[in-house]
Amino acid sequence: MVVVLREDASAEERQAVDALLSDNGIAARAVRWAEQDLYIPETALTPSLQQTLAALPAVERCLAVESPYVLASRELHPEKSLVRVGHAVFGGADPVLIAGPCSVENEAQINEAAEAAAASGAQVLRGGGFKPRTSPYSFQGRGLEGILLLEAAGARVGLPVVTEVMEPAMAEVVAEHADMLQVGSRNMQNFPLLRAVGRTARPVMLKRGFASTLDEWLLAAEYILAEGNAHVVLCERGIRGFDTHTRNVLDLACVPLLARLTHLPVIVDPSHATGHRDLVLPMGVAAIAAGADGLMVEMHPRPDESLSDAEQTIDAATLRALATQAHSVRAALLAAQSQSPDQPEPSPAKTRQPAARLG
Ligand code: PEP
Ligand code: MN
Repeated sequence: MVVVLREDASAEERQAVDALLSDNGIAARAVRWAEQDLYIPETALTPSLQQTLAALPAVERCLAVESPYVLASRELHPEKSLVRVGHAVFGGADPVLIAGPCSVENEAQINEAAEAAAASGAQVLRGGGFKPRTSPYSFQGRGLEGILLLEAAGARVGLPVVTEVMEPAMAEVVAEHADMLQVGSRNMQNFPLLRAVGRTARPVMLKRGFASTLDEWLLAAEYILAEGNAHVVLCERGIRGFDTHTRNVLDLACVPLLARLTHLPVIVDPSHATGHRDLVLPMGVAAIAAGADGLMVEMHPRPDESLSDAEQTIDAATLRALATQAHSVRAALLAAQSQSPDQPEPSPAKTRQPAARLG
């Protein structure tokens, strides 16, 4: 249930809503989202309370939303959201390609990578400064210094930049130097971090936790949206499986499924999903065929010299091939879909397994 307030409601009229809710023992989260003031109650309202609420002058409408992720749901926001980062538009007609090294290593490396990314069809440059490494003895990234190098490299070639933020206290600082903030797989349920990036004015790329369900992922996105930041892009990056031939299992079924559940754009990272550079191009193309709004890939001028994730890092020529194929597949898909306008749309409710418990 969402209570949508009228934009022109007076303070007194709004207080009447607060009073009615508190008199009935209902705690509700006040959210400013998509230029509207909303109340999202923590518990269900009785039909009679809903009626009384809906009749208050401050209330524009009460909307029943079944999804636990209210703001991320198609029920509240049926149209697809567009998320703009520089000239790139996630969720628009063209797939967005994000490319760059796993880590920013030094000025020459990131400048070379930026030039290769811009010349090879990428619209956004990536590069990690703060790296979440499994071992404390692995290269940990160049921190803020790396992010400043990334910012400068992006500016030189005219590409916006995305980089990971790992700590809530760093969200504002990183937001000053990056056009988009990345929340990594390991931090998908770091709730203080989600709130912190939600309070910045930057678009956020939220990677899927490697052992997270779609509901957990969408509720993590909801934390960001509930802080008033409507610019969230979901990134599928593979979930943990049992086969050691690939680093993770790329869950491509989530792409069309998410398109029904949420209005948020969805991109795919075939680099971390597969762990193999030879698999990045075919699985990147497959992700576009599944309907992804873009891709994020690790690309280095000399992949074998990468200080992190060398095995899954492609070179500029492969990125060029991927960009060409991704755009051709998207164009072919749009043309094919326009020739079969009556294809049935399966309902999301039918795809859900028996309810998982939310904790
Ligand atoms: C990354 O994109 O740099 C990264 C660390 O990815 P993930 O969080 O998906 O492991
Ligand atoms: Mn990496």
